[in-house]
Amino acid sequence: MTSPNIDAARLTLALNELRLPAIKTLWPRFAEQADKEGWSAAHLLSVLAEHELAERDRRRTERHLAQARLLPGKTIDTFDFAAIPMVSKAHINAITAGDGWIAKGDNILLFGPPGVGKSHLSCAIGLALIENGYRVLFTRTTDLVQKLQQARRDLVLESAIAKLDKFHLLILDDIAYVTKDQAETSVLFELISARYERRSMLITANKPFGAWDAIFPDPAMTLAAVDRLVHHATIFEMNVESYRRKAAQKAKGRGRPATIASPAEMAPD
Ligand code: ADP
Ligand code: MG
Repeated sequence: MTSPNIDAARLTLALNELRLPAIKTLWPRFAEQADKEGWSAAHLLSVLAEHELAERDRRRTERHLAQARLLPGKTIDTFDFAAIPMVSKAHINAITAGDGWIAKGDNILLFGPPGVGKSHLSCAIGLALIENGYRVLFTRTTDLVQKLQQARRDLVLESAIAKLDKFHLLILDDIAYVTKDQAETSVLFELISARYERRSMLITANKPFGAWDAIFPDPAMTLAAVDRLVHHATIFEMNVESYRRKAAQKAKGRGRPATIASPAEMAPD
């Protein structure tokens, strides 16, 4: 049985109108293959539908990646877990599956001195979550605080905080760099309160809670913020030697100046 001729130009227009770009591009090739190999109509249709879905997923992930502003190259694959015994790859993999904790709005807190991989691990977790379909935003805490302060001046703080709800995970890097003399860091408290038990945060800090009085306007607010953050949280104490320093020393040991060592060369042997 021969099939009736179709108007290819009209079909292309229709697929455009229906916003099916993958099918629009792929149908001539697959139709030809189907004719040649005698596929059933249902088989052809399902192949085309699968391609459209896969392409849609890919575009979504790409968009979410661009929005997340993660540091490039900081992935789980490039993270050396041997350097940090208190963080296990299995635990991080369980976290990046996202099940449960993200739905409940639980938090992750990473503590440790500079150079131990807090930012790297945050981005690695963020990237894996995006690949698993979640939305993430990585930001230096000081940058976000500045934006929220501007929003407060413009009388749109509430909606600025609400807009961040679209991100399942908000990564606030280096919270301890925020100082209350930056004025009005209560915006940070308002953000923490707004997300409490609803939307997750991952916070990195190079200072323990005891030093967080320098961040918030008054001790009561510090206490209230910490209380909310830790209520449902996984805490990693990353107290190891700086990976950066260790890598530099290693490079020096090989007779190369530490200043030339680049992250790519820091991979463990
Ligand atoms: P922190 O945020 O704790 O100051 P970073 O994440 O910026 O530390 O790490 C400093 C540098 O060392 C980065 O280039 C990072 O990729 C690298 N690094 C740190 N820890 C590790 C690790 N365990 N495995 C691989 N690279 C690491
Ligand atoms: Mg960092």
